Order: sequence, then structure tokens, then C-alpha cells
Amino acid sequence: MSRVYNFSAGPAVLPEEVLQQAADEMLDYQGSGMSVMEMSHRSKVYDSIIKTAEADLRELMNIPDNYKVLFLQGGASQQFAMIPMNLMKNKKAAYIVTGQWAKKAFQEAQIYGEAVKVASSEDETFSYIPDCSDLDIPEDADYVYICENNTIYGTKYRTLPNAKGHILVADVSSCFLSEPVDVSKYGIIYGGVQKNIGPAGVVIVIIREDLITEDTLPGTPTMLKYKTHADAESLYNTPPAYGIYICGKVFQWIKNMGGLEVMKQRNEEKAKILYDFLDESKMFQGTVRKEDRSLMNVPFVTGDKDLDAKFVKEAEAAGFVNLKGHRTVGGMRASIYNAMPREGVEKLVAFMKKFEEEN
Ligand SMILES: *Cc1c(COP(=O)(O)O)cnc(C)c1O
Repeated sequence: MSRVYNFSAGPAVLPEEVLQQAADEMLDYQGSGMSVMEMSHRSKVYDSIIKTAEADLRELMNIPDNYKVLFLQGGASQQFAMIPMNLMKNKKAAYIVTGQWAKKAFQEAQIYGEAVKVASSEDETFSYIPDCSDLDIPEDADYVYICENNTIYGTKYRTLPNAKGHILVADVSSCFLSEPVDVSKYGIIYGGVQKNIGPAGVVIVIIREDLITEDTLPGTPTMLKYKTHADAESLYNTPPAYGIYICGKVFQWIKNMGGLEVMKQRNEEKAKILYDFLDESKMFQGTVRKEDRSLMNVPFVTGDKDLDAKFVKEAEAAGFVNLKGHRTVGGMRASIYNAMPREGVEKLVAFMKKFEEEN
């Protein structure tokens, strides 16, 4: 068996130990005589899987008791609508646009009310995080929305925006569980799990209890009300059962590694190896303002499209796959999520050095 170093932005690399355990349990999950895929989501054995997953996530993120954890479907993109449908009591919200995902959320919110763009970094191809220390947030805005780690552009907020007493809502799809967070600073933290936690098909929403109300926008479908899922503990209808099971395994993997402090340290070390090389290379350059660099997604270019293409092709042949940058940025992007081993980054840098010498 030969596994490649997979630098995909998502769906992305998962811990090999987790995949191996899932393989071992595929035909007979702990003596149940069936796969997790085949069992009722109302069974005792499945109940234990989803409850344990939630408990482990709560422990890892130190989630306060007044927050619910919801395992939902529809991807991160469905939250672009669910958030305004459930939170826009005054039909007004403030959006900080730092990339394609934030922009999509901002555009979706305009269907439901007034979405006000209070800051943006679009003027410089989203290569930085705007100053959010003194934003002009409308008094009656229901919430302030951010995308905390910008998967495509490789930027990350180092400090959260000053939301001036408003509810902060954050899409953390591509930095979920990459470092410790203070959940109490947010009204909602949510993310699609296919970047850093599990298989596509699950989105995790961590939401403060007082934001879960019957008072949603008129016409909000039952399935798009947080209350529906909160009341039923994520089992209103059939959840993405197998995906949640894999997420649970990844939570245990992170716990065994030592938790989010250890993850952060590992991620900082891995990212430093790559960024240090980009800073000294005469061929490769990072595309992001240094102080806003993401630990998870690292875009870089040579400045020459043909050379970029040659690099991506030769890297793939050498076992470093999915390094092509997003179509809107070009160049390359290495996504180095939790499950990317340090060795993968070291070998990538060695390959880049060799490529630079030869070209
Ligand atoms: C991938 C991604 C999304 C979209 O996720 P889907 O599950 O495909 O809807 C949204 N936000 C961020 C930050 C992402 O990285």
C-alpha cells in the first residue's frame, strides 16, 4: 500500500490511525455484527457513538454548558442561509468579507435582510485581514459575521474583531480544532468537517442556547431551524451517521495526541518549516501578509505560470498531491491540516529546494 502526501484543501487528509480503525471496524462494529453505516441511528450502540463524540468535542474545546453542539447536514454552505434565517430578528447583520466563503455568506444573507459589509480585503485579492478594531457596526445589527480562516487565500484572524457587544458568528471550517479557542466569545462557531475533522457531509454548529428560538424568519423550513435539531439532540431525522462516527474517532485521536494546545504547537512548527523556506527562497513566494498567515492553508507562487504548472506536475509525480492553487488565485496551495504529519511538510520543502536548484 502506498499513501501519498495529500495537500488538498478539502476533503482533506485524515489521520491514518483513524482510517485504519474504521477499516478494522467496517464489517463488525464492536460485536454488533454490522457496520456503523448499517445500524439504526436510534439504536443504543449508535447513541453511544454520537454522545461520546459530543462529549469528546466538548472536552477538547472546553465548550461551556450554555452552548449546544449540533451535528447537521448541508455542508458549511447551508449555514450561510440558516444563520440569517434564525438570527436576523432585526433583519440586519454586519459581514466582514475576507474571501470567497465570507462573500458567499454575505450574498446569501442579502436574501433575508440587510447585510452590511463593514470591512473587506477584496481590494488586494483577500491577501490580508482588515483592521477590525473599530468597525462601523450598525447599532441594530443582529450579529457580526466572519470567516476565521480563509481556506482559499490562506489568511487567519490573529485577534477576533471588536464586535462591540454584538453576537459574533464564525465559520471555522478550515481551522476547526487546529488550536484552542475561547468558545464564550462567540454566539455561533460552525464548520464543515471535511477540512480538518472528518468526511464531507457533516457540519458542526456550536451555538449559544439563547440564540436557539422559535422566532425564526417566516417560512423557515423545519429542517433549517436550530431549535428543531437542538430539541432532538441532532436526531430529529437520520443524521449523517457514519460521518459523525469518523468525527468521533478524530476527536479521540486529538485527545490522545494531547489536545488542542499540542495541536497548535504542532501546527505552528509545521507551518514555520514551510513559511521559513518561502521567506528565504528566490523562486517561491508566499502570497499573504506575514502577520495574517494561516497555519492551515499556505498559498505560494513562483511568479511564472508555466513554472507553477511544472512544479505541480513534478510534485504530483513525486507523491505530493493536490498542490494546485485555487482557480481564483493561481499558483500553489499546501493545506497542512492537523492530520498532515510534520514529515510530509519537511519532505515537501526538501522537494521544493531541489526543484529550485534544478530550475
Ligand atoms: C470549504 C469551505 C466552505 C464550504 O463548505 P461546504 O461544506 O462545501 O459547503 C465554507 N467555508 C469555508 C471556510 C470553507 O473552507
